[in-house]
Amino acid sequence: MSNTRVIAWSERSEPEAVYPEGINGALAEYLNSQPGIETVVASLAEPDQGVSEEALAAADVLMWFGHVRHGEVSAETVERVCRHVRERGMGYLALHSSHFALPLKALLGSSCAWRAYVEDGKPGHIRVVDPTHPIAAGVEDFTIPKEEWYGEPFEVPEPEAVILEGTYNDGVEVARDALVWTIGQGRVFYFRPGHETYPIYLMPEVRRIIENGVRWLAER
Ligand code: ZN
Repeated sequence: MSNTRVIAWSERSEPEAVYPEGINGALAEYLNSQPGIETVVASLAEPDQGVSEEALAAADVLMWFGHVRHGEVSAETVERVCRHVRERGMGYLALHSSHFALPLKALLGSSCAWRAYVEDGKPGHIRVVDPTHPIAAGVEDFTIPKEEWYGEPFEVPEPEAVILEGTYNDGVEVARDALVWTIGQGRVFYFRPGHETYPIYLMPEVRRIIENGVRWLAER
């Protein structure tokens, strides 16, 4: 079987004190330590905003982190990304604040807005609610020590599966934390946790979910 080829993309606004090489760099380093995955990093500042036609054509999965610079992503970039998902079956993985990433909004055709965004720095308790899904393989319930919560409802089309749920704000808030859709020929995965001021993408449970997600997204 050929390797799974991943582009780990970031707008690069995440704090260097937490992620010296970016969230994309941290996840690329992990994914490249796993068998059968080849990951390259890309960012908004690069030519063609890091996702040229050639780069996308060579990718099975595009992983995306954006937060405060969504508006700088050009219409041409959004068109290229969406076309590779819809027509060629490239997988798209949107991380945390990338719920507002323009390619995700275009692919899902919805506002992708949550009711609330509260950075309280309290724990989030993550529960596997679809243990049969490949994204949950080897993943047990776990706790993120400090997190930001997003409040339901989350305005997106009905997902094909909800794999994880998180409980936040001392048990008051329950959010869908891992959701998947099929858009045209491609698979789309949104992973909600990961506020960038906490080292959440260094957690082994989270890395396993991302790795599983990348492998699953590449199957189309
Ligand atoms: Zn956040």
